[in-house]
Amino acid sequence: MDVTLTSASDGGSAQAMTRLDNLFDLARATTGFMPDNEGEALYLAAERAGATFGDSTFVEVGAWCGKSSVYIGAAAEKTGAVLFSLDHHHGSEENQAGWEHHDTTLVDVGTGRIDTLPHWRRTIVGADLELTVIGLVGDSPTVSSRWSTPLAFCFIDGGHGEEPAWADYRGWSPHVVMGGWVAIHDVFPDPADGGRPPYDLWRGALDSGEFVEDGECGSLRVLKRVRNG
Ligand code: SAH
Ligand code: MG
Repeated sequence: MDVTLTSASDGGSAQAMTRLDNLFDLARATTGFMPDNEGEALYLAAERAGATFGDSTFVEVGAWCGKSSVYIGAAAEKTGAVLFSLDHHHGSEENQAGWEHHDTTLVDVGTGRIDTLPHWRRTIVGADLELTVIGLVGDSPTVSSRWSTPLAFCFIDGGHGEEPAWADYRGWSPHVVMGGWVAIHDVFPDPADGGRPPYDLWRGALDSGEFVEDGECGSLRVLKRVRNG
């Protein structure tokens, strides 16, 4: 793992380790778009945020079937934080029929639309994380525009088109407290590896002077707020 993140979980009780191993196993087995090593780095980044700010609040944008929710949820549970896991659960543009990341097993036969909410719920119930991971079902910009709770940690992995990605960054990053962290997924410096918008967000965050790099693993980039906008 090429992260600069270090785990505060080392030296935990045998029981705590078992719980974490269990959650990692569940996360690995959950349908989604998060390689195992990036998921563990995501856990470490969230755990650091939870340990730094007591009683804190996390948001993830883009939950799909709950894979990343379990990694972040594990960190929230360990540190006494609460994770609000946001998704309209109808999939992004790139998840729709005819696109690369479409999965016909996730289509609701009643509506003909993707519906990952039942899968997300099964994941969270199966992980016994219902008191720690709260689902927010709706459109990200609509929710962010009404949001007012300061965030210790925000994970951005929603729609990857230019408009939705920037809307997520502009809508959620202002809620991240000084010294808190934003993590962005699918940041690919080489355009041959993936779409531009997540990379552009990451660059924009650094160029703004509000955030500095503070950990990475694969396409996961972790940024720390050092200045208010
Ligand atoms: N983090 C997930 C993958 C997320 S895929 C994992 O670990 O597997 C991106 C998700 O963003 C999709 O589930 C899609 O429904 C959601 N999404 C896209 N645009 C959105 C919007 N405007 N509001 C809420 N969710 C959105
Ligand atoms: Mg992703």
